[in-house]
Amino acid sequence: MEDEAIKVDVGKIEGEEVAKEVVIAPEEEVKHVKEENIGKEGWKPKTSLGIKVKNGEITTIDEVLDKRWRIMEQEIVDILLPNLQTDLLLIGQAKGKFGGGQRRVFKQTQKKTSEGNKPKFATSAVVGNENGYVGIGYSKSKETVPARERAIRNAKLNVIKISRGCGSWQCGCKEPHSIPFTVEARCGSIRIKIMPAPRGTGLCIERECQKILKLAGIKDVWSKTLGQTRTKLNMINACFEALKKLIEIKAQRGYKETTGVVEGRLETAAKE
Ligand SMILES: [Zn+2]
Repeated sequence: MEDEAIKVDVGKIEGEEVAKEVVIAPEEEVKHVKEENIGKEGWKPKTSLGIKVKNGEITTIDEVLDKRWRIMEQEIVDILLPNLQTDLLLIGQAKGKFGGGQRRVFKQTQKKTSEGNKPKFATSAVVGNENGYVGIGYSKSKETVPARERAIRNAKLNVIKISRGCGSWQCGCKEPHSIPFTVEARCGSIRIKIMPAPRGTGLCIERECQKILKLAGIKDVWSKTLGQTRTKLNMINACFEALKKLIEIKAQRGYKETTGVVEGRLETAAKE
Protein backbone atom coordinates (compact mmCIF):
# COMPACT_ATOMS: atom_id res chain seq x y z
CA MET A 1 0.00 0.00 0.00
CA GLU A 2 2.71 2.37 0.91
CA ASP A 3 4.49 1.76 -2.36
CA GLU A 4 1.39 2.56 -4.36
CA ALA A 5 0.79 5.76 -2.49
CA ILE A 6 4.34 6.92 -3.17
CA LYS A 7 4.02 6.10 -6.84
CA VAL A 8 0.82 8.12 -7.17
CA ASP A 9 2.47 11.09 -5.52
CA VAL A 10 5.41 10.98 -7.88
CA GLY A 11 3.11 10.72 -10.85
CA LYS A 12 1.15 13.77 -9.74
CA ILE A 13 4.26 15.84 -9.25
CA GLU A 14 5.67 14.82 -12.63
CA GLY A 15 2.37 15.58 -14.33
CA GLU A 16 2.22 19.04 -12.79
CA GLU A 17 5.76 19.82 -13.82
CA VAL A 18 5.12 18.76 -17.39
CA ALA A 19 1.95 20.82 -17.54
CA LYS A 20 3.81 23.92 -16.31
CA GLU A 21 6.52 23.45 -18.93
CA VAL A 22 3.98 23.21 -21.73
CA VAL A 23 2.40 26.48 -20.67
CA ILE A 24 5.74 28.27 -20.52
CA ALA A 25 7.24 26.88 -23.76
CA PRO A 26 7.29 29.58 -26.47
CA GLU A 27 7.24 26.97 -29.25
CA GLU A 28 3.48 26.56 -28.74
CA GLU A 29 2.92 30.14 -29.88
CA VAL A 30 5.04 29.56 -32.96
CA LYS A 31 2.94 26.55 -33.98
CA HIS A 32 -0.27 28.58 -33.69
CA VAL A 33 1.11 31.33 -35.89
CA LYS A 34 2.20 28.82 -38.55
CA GLU A 35 -1.17 27.06 -38.61
CA GLU A 36 -2.93 30.36 -39.13
CA ASN A 37 -0.67 31.17 -42.05
CA ILE A 38 -1.20 27.81 -43.74
CA GLY A 39 -4.94 27.74 -43.27
CA LYS A 40 -5.59 31.03 -45.08
CA GLU A 41 -8.40 29.90 -47.37
CA GLY A 42 -10.15 33.23 -47.18
CA TRP A 43 -7.25 35.18 -48.66
CA LYS A 44 -8.28 38.52 -50.15
CA PRO A 45 -5.66 39.60 -52.70
CA LYS A 46 -4.74 43.28 -52.67
CA THR A 47 -2.58 43.49 -55.79
CA SER A 48 -3.63 42.88 -59.40
CA LEU A 49 -1.13 40.02 -59.57
CA GLY A 50 -2.69 38.43 -56.51
CA ILE A 51 -6.18 38.66 -58.05
CA LYS A 52 -4.96 36.98 -61.25
CA VAL A 53 -3.34 34.18 -59.25
CA LYS A 54 -6.45 33.59 -57.20
CA ASN A 55 -8.73 33.54 -60.26
CA GLY A 56 -6.45 31.00 -61.91
CA GLU A 57 -5.28 33.25 -64.78
CA ILE A 58 -1.68 32.62 -63.74
CA THR A 59 -0.85 29.05 -62.91
CA THR A 60 2.96 28.90 -62.91
CA ILE A 61 5.57 30.92 -61.07
CA ASP A 62 7.59 31.14 -64.31
CA GLU A 63 5.03 33.55 -65.81
CA VAL A 64 5.50 35.87 -62.85
CA LEU A 65 9.30 35.64 -62.73
CA ASP A 66 9.91 35.87 -66.50
CA LYS A 67 7.84 39.07 -66.79
CA ARG A 68 9.65 40.45 -63.73
CA TRP A 69 6.45 41.26 -61.90
CA ARG A 70 6.98 42.18 -58.34
CA ILE A 71 5.49 39.78 -55.82
CA MET A 72 3.95 41.72 -52.95
CA GLU A 73 1.94 38.99 -51.21
CA GLN A 74 3.35 35.77 -49.83
CA GLU A 75 0.16 33.84 -50.65
CA ILE A 76 1.04 34.12 -54.34
CA VAL A 77 4.17 32.08 -53.73
CA ASP A 78 2.32 29.69 -51.42
CA ILE A 79 -0.13 28.86 -54.22
CA LEU A 80 2.27 28.78 -57.18
CA LEU A 81 5.11 26.97 -55.39
CA PRO A 82 3.71 24.36 -53.03
CA ASN A 83 6.05 22.17 -50.96
CA LEU A 84 8.34 25.07 -50.14
CA GLN A 85 10.86 24.24 -47.43
CA THR A 86 12.18 26.83 -45.04
CA ASP A 87 15.40 27.03 -43.08
CA LEU A 88 16.88 29.66 -40.79
CA LEU A 89 20.44 30.84 -41.26
CA LEU A 90 22.78 31.29 -38.31
CA ILE A 91 23.67 34.95 -38.55
CA GLY A 92 24.07 35.78 -34.86
CA GLN A 93 26.22 34.48 -32.05
CA ALA A 94 25.89 33.69 -28.36
CA LYS A 95 27.19 36.26 -25.90
CA GLY A 96 29.11 35.83 -22.69
CA LYS A 97 29.05 32.27 -21.45
CA PHE A 98 32.11 30.14 -22.17
CA GLY A 99 33.65 32.86 -24.26
CA GLY A 100 30.54 33.22 -26.44
CA GLY A 101 30.73 33.03 -30.17
CA GLN A 102 28.47 30.03 -30.69
CA ARG A 103 26.37 30.58 -33.81
CA ARG A 104 22.72 31.45 -33.23
CA VAL A 105 19.68 32.07 -35.41
CA PHE A 106 18.98 35.49 -33.97
CA LYS A 107 21.41 38.36 -34.15
CA GLN A 108 20.85 40.40 -30.98
CA THR A 109 21.52 44.09 -30.96
CA GLN A 110 20.77 46.79 -28.39
CA LYS A 111 20.06 50.47 -28.57
CA LYS A 112 21.01 52.48 -25.48
CA THR A 113 18.28 54.89 -24.44
CA SER A 114 17.47 56.90 -21.32
CA GLU A 115 14.80 54.31 -20.45
CA GLY A 116 17.29 51.46 -20.66
CA ASN A 117 18.57 49.09 -23.28
CA LYS A 118 16.17 48.29 -26.09
CA PRO A 119 17.04 44.90 -27.60
CA LYS A 120 16.21 43.86 -31.15
CA PHE A 121 16.38 40.50 -32.85
CA ALA A 122 17.33 40.03 -36.48
CA THR A 123 17.18 36.84 -38.46
CA SER A 124 17.59 35.57 -41.97
CA ALA A 125 15.57 32.80 -43.62
CA VAL A 126 15.88 30.80 -46.81
CA VAL A 127 13.04 29.11 -48.70
CA GLY A 128 13.26 26.71 -51.62
CA ASN A 129 11.63 23.67 -53.19
CA GLU A 130 14.93 21.78 -53.77
CA ASN A 131 14.07 21.97 -57.45
CA GLY A 132 15.31 25.20 -58.94
CA TYR A 133 13.54 27.91 -56.93
CA VAL A 134 15.08 29.65 -53.94
CA GLY A 135 14.76 32.89 -51.99
CA ILE A 136 16.33 34.56 -48.97
CA GLY A 137 14.87 37.12 -46.60
CA TYR A 138 16.00 39.23 -43.67
CA SER A 139 13.99 40.85 -40.93
CA LYS A 140 14.40 42.57 -37.61
CA SER A 141 11.98 42.99 -34.73
CA LYS A 142 11.67 43.62 -30.99
CA GLU A 143 10.55 40.01 -30.51
CA THR A 144 11.92 36.79 -31.93
CA VAL A 145 8.72 35.30 -33.35
CA PRO A 146 7.64 38.24 -35.58
CA ALA A 147 11.23 38.57 -36.80
CA ARG A 148 11.23 34.95 -37.93
CA GLU A 149 7.78 35.13 -39.54
CA ARG A 150 8.68 38.27 -41.44
CA ALA A 151 12.02 36.86 -42.55
CA ILE A 152 10.25 33.83 -44.03
CA ARG A 153 7.71 36.14 -45.69
CA ASN A 154 10.48 38.28 -47.20
CA ALA A 155 12.23 35.15 -48.41
CA LYS A 156 9.08 34.08 -50.24
CA LEU A 157 8.74 37.50 -51.88
CA ASN A 158 12.37 37.26 -53.03
CA VAL A 159 12.03 33.91 -54.77
CA ILE A 160 14.19 33.51 -57.89
CA LYS A 161 14.60 30.83 -60.51
CA ILE A 162 18.03 29.30 -61.07
CA SER A 163 19.44 27.11 -63.81
CA ARG A 164 21.21 23.85 -63.11
CA GLY A 165 23.30 21.58 -65.26
CA CYS A 166 26.55 19.66 -65.39
CA GLY A 167 29.30 22.11 -66.33
CA SER A 168 32.10 19.94 -65.02
CA TRP A 169 34.51 18.66 -67.68
CA GLN A 170 35.40 15.73 -65.43
CA CYS A 171 31.81 14.52 -65.36
CA GLY A 172 29.84 15.50 -68.48
CA CYS A 173 26.77 13.47 -67.55
CA LYS A 174 24.25 16.14 -68.77
CA GLU A 175 22.19 15.85 -65.60
CA PRO A 176 21.24 18.82 -63.39
CA HIS A 177 23.20 17.90 -60.27
CA SER A 178 25.56 20.90 -60.38
CA ILE A 179 25.67 24.34 -62.06
CA PRO A 180 26.33 24.89 -65.77
CA PHE A 181 29.20 27.40 -65.39
CA THR A 182 31.27 29.24 -62.80
CA VAL A 183 29.62 32.29 -61.22
CA GLU A 184 31.18 35.02 -59.10
CA ALA A 185 29.67 37.71 -56.90
CA ARG A 186 30.67 40.12 -54.17
CA CYS A 187 29.08 41.81 -51.20
CA GLY A 188 31.09 43.98 -48.85
CA SER A 189 34.59 42.59 -48.63
CA ILE A 190 33.47 39.12 -49.67
CA ARG A 191 34.14 37.65 -53.08
CA ILE A 192 32.61 34.27 -53.74
CA LYS A 193 33.18 31.97 -56.68
CA ILE A 194 30.98 28.92 -57.16
CA MET A 195 32.26 26.30 -59.57
CA PRO A 196 30.67 23.19 -61.10
CA ALA A 197 31.88 19.89 -59.69
CA PRO A 198 31.56 16.24 -60.76
CA ARG A 199 28.85 13.98 -59.38
CA GLY A 200 29.35 12.86 -55.78
CA THR A 201 31.47 15.83 -54.70
CA GLY A 202 28.90 17.31 -52.34
CA LEU A 203 28.62 20.97 -51.43
CA CYS A 204 32.17 22.17 -50.81
CA ILE A 205 31.17 25.59 -49.52
CA GLU A 206 30.62 27.46 -46.27
CA ARG A 207 27.85 26.00 -44.06
CA GLU A 208 25.19 28.72 -44.40
CA CYS A 209 25.66 28.76 -48.17
CA GLN A 210 25.25 24.98 -48.13
CA LYS A 211 21.72 25.48 -46.80
CA ILE A 212 20.89 27.90 -49.62
CA LEU A 213 22.30 25.65 -52.34
CA LYS A 214 20.61 22.58 -50.88
CA LEU A 215 17.19 24.26 -50.96
CA ALA A 216 17.94 25.44 -54.50
CA GLY A 217 18.44 21.82 -55.55
CA ILE A 218 22.17 21.92 -56.30
CA LYS A 219 24.06 18.86 -55.09
CA ASP A 220 27.70 19.19 -56.19
CA VAL A 221 29.74 22.36 -56.15
CA TRP A 222 33.24 23.68 -55.49
CA SER A 223 33.82 27.19 -54.16
CA LYS A 224 36.40 29.82 -53.37
CA THR A 225 35.87 32.77 -51.05
CA LEU A 226 37.92 35.82 -50.18
CA GLY A 227 37.36 38.43 -47.47
CA GLN A 228 35.66 38.48 -44.09
CA THR A 229 33.48 35.41 -44.48
CA ARG A 230 32.56 35.57 -40.80
CA THR A 231 30.25 38.48 -41.70
CA LYS A 232 27.44 36.06 -42.39
CA LEU A 233 24.91 38.52 -43.81
CA ASN A 234 27.35 39.63 -46.48
CA MET A 235 28.31 36.02 -47.10
CA ILE A 236 24.68 35.01 -47.64
CA ASN A 237 23.97 37.98 -49.89
CA ALA A 238 27.05 37.28 -52.01
CA CYS A 239 26.01 33.64 -52.39
CA PHE A 240 22.50 34.68 -53.45
CA GLU A 241 23.83 37.24 -55.92
CA ALA A 242 26.00 34.53 -57.47
CA LEU A 243 22.95 32.28 -57.84
CA LYS A 244 21.05 35.12 -59.56
CA LYS A 245 23.75 35.22 -62.22
CA LEU A 246 23.02 31.62 -63.21
CA ILE A 247 19.89 32.83 -65.00
CA GLU A 248 21.13 36.30 -65.98
CA ILE A 249 24.26 35.20 -67.86
CA LYS A 250 23.51 34.14 -71.43
CA ALA A 251 25.44 31.05 -72.48
CA GLN A 252 26.94 30.41 -75.92
CA ARG A 253 24.68 28.74 -78.47
CA GLY A 254 24.82 25.00 -78.04
CA TYR A 255 26.30 25.23 -74.54
CA LYS A 256 22.99 24.54 -72.86
CA GLU A 257 22.61 21.29 -74.79
CA THR A 258 26.11 20.04 -73.99
CA THR A 259 25.72 20.73 -70.26
CA GLY A 260 22.08 19.67 -69.97
CA VAL A 261 20.82 22.93 -68.47
CA VAL A 262 17.50 22.82 -66.65
CA GLU A 263 15.84 26.10 -65.72
CA GLY A 264 13.55 25.98 -62.74
CA ARG A 265 11.68 22.85 -61.90
CA LEU A 266 12.30 19.49 -63.53
CA GLU A 267 8.67 18.62 -64.29
CA THR A 268 8.15 21.45 -66.78
CA ALA A 269 11.43 20.63 -68.54
CA ALA A 270 10.34 17.02 -69.00
CA LYS A 271 7.03 18.11 -70.59
CA GLU A 272 8.72 20.34 -73.12
ZN1 LIG B 1 27.64 15.53 -64.08
